[in-house]
Amino acid sequence: MNTKKYYITTPLYYLNDKPHIGHAYTTIAADILARHLRSKDIPVHFQTGTDEHGSNIEKIAKEKGVDPKAWCDELSADFRQLWKMLNIKYDYFIRTTDASHEAAVQAVFEKLIKSGDIYLGSYDGLYCRSCEAFYDEGELKEKNCPIHGRPVEQVSEETYFFKLSKYEPALLKHYEEHPDFLSPRYRAQEMINFAKSGLKDFSVSRTKVSWGVPVRSNPKHTVYVWIDALLNYATGAGYNPENVSPDFRTLWPADVQLVGKEIFRFHGVIWPAMLMALGVELPRKVYAHGWWTINGDKMSKSRGNFIRAEDVVKDYGVDALRFFLFREVTFGQDGDFSLEAFKRRYNADLANDLGNLFSRVMNMAAKYLDHRLPVKPESSETFRELSSWTPAIHHSMEALQFSEALEKIWQGVGTLNRLVDTKKPWEMAKTSPEALKPFLHEMIWCLRLIAGWIDPFMPDTASRMHLQLGVGRTDDGTEPQKVPPLFPRKQDEKPK
Ligand SMILES: [Zn+2]
Repeated sequence: MNTKKYYITTPLYYLNDKPHIGHAYTTIAADILARHLRSKDIPVHFQTGTDEHGSNIEKIAKEKGVDPKAWCDELSADFRQLWKMLNIKYDYFIRTTDASHEAAVQAVFEKLIKSGDIYLGSYDGLYCRSCEAFYDEGELKEKNCPIHGRPVEQVSEETYFFKLSKYEPALLKHYEEHPDFLSPRYRAQEMINFAKSGLKDFSVSRTKVSWGVPVRSNPKHTVYVWIDALLNYATGAGYNPENVSPDFRTLWPADVQLVGKEIFRFHGVIWPAMLMALGVELPRKVYAHGWWTINGDKMSKSRGNFIRAEDVVKDYGVDALRFFLFREVTFGQDGDFSLEAFKRRYNADLANDLGNLFSRVMNMAAKYLDHRLPVKPESSETFRELSSWTPAIHHSMEALQFSEALEKIWQGVGTLNRLVDTKKPWEMAKTSPEALKPFLHEMIWCLRLIAGWIDPFMPDTASRMHLQLGVGRTDDGTEPQKVPPLFPRKQDEKPK
């Protein structure tokens, strides 16, 4: 018997450029959720990967004078390396150039041609090369692509269409019966309105693009890159309509599919319609998060405000980045990234609140405690109170309300800091040494709780704390030690 695993996906990242902070954001979110669930012994499958076909990549490779596959190999490796640096533990990394994926995409196409959900026709339309998508006149912004702000081209070609129109009633019914399918709720209405506005069949093959998956029964067509990419969530889990792997039953349906709001339409409308056409169950939740601006501006290379995760990590460490992205902004909404805000939070929340608390307690423990592991302080009011918060924190995590969880955790950190301030253990050492030990024991257990809570967000910090706090030790041989600061304070560049 196989238990269903909790299946989490990120979008496949398109290999037209090196990874930036936006890619890191989605992937870290998936990793936080995956780590949280694993800590509760829930079997998780976390898939990410790279989207490697289409005219854009063909064009870039040509400009660079390299083979498109060689370009993709190099850039895809950059993504994997970044995920390693950011401490992201995915279970499967799919590339749309993987042979098994390509075969499954071809099989899907043939199946849908046979069922009549995909049919041959011809298309005249306005096309954005960067989106690799057609737009209606009304969708354009000042005659430009609404996403890229660039001119669109009038394009006419023989093409296969997907019968999206047929699935409009079924989609609307699904949205209504599964209110969590399109999440967060405040982003759902736009998708529902779009579906209600009358869905049109849309083009799903190209004859002008050679870098893609050829249609098996008509190879002058390649499968439209978005169709190819969307299918990864199923093919990566073992789906091929001609030969479904037993794995698929343990993974499907996907439980949470994280996407950026700019691709919600592909994931909230087209993707479920494709699955309906294939007779495959729909994912449980598609969650669209917001965008990061940089100092108030949209991030772009031309503006020169392109922020790479590597640069932030170099100065502040991986955990500080993982913390900031999910503390600063409610996951789902748009946020603004500025190094000033980053430094402020780093110094206040990490260096001061958590870092100081930890070193104050550990330094006192090193000085005044013996080598024994402290017994759980069941009678401690603070410990009992803090322990009772765990279900609420877990609930926030599972609802993807990461900032809410962190806020609560930092309430705990604040409580402990106040307790140290009022109890003044350094004075207790002189005036009432018999009360000092139980107090430090209590603090150690409370810090263990905190370390457990922050683990999905800041795994390195949590494991350093765990080590110092003797978590996982069964013997009594642990010796509290003076510890280097978890988060060394960053000085202001400008003198005060
Ligand atoms: Zn565009």
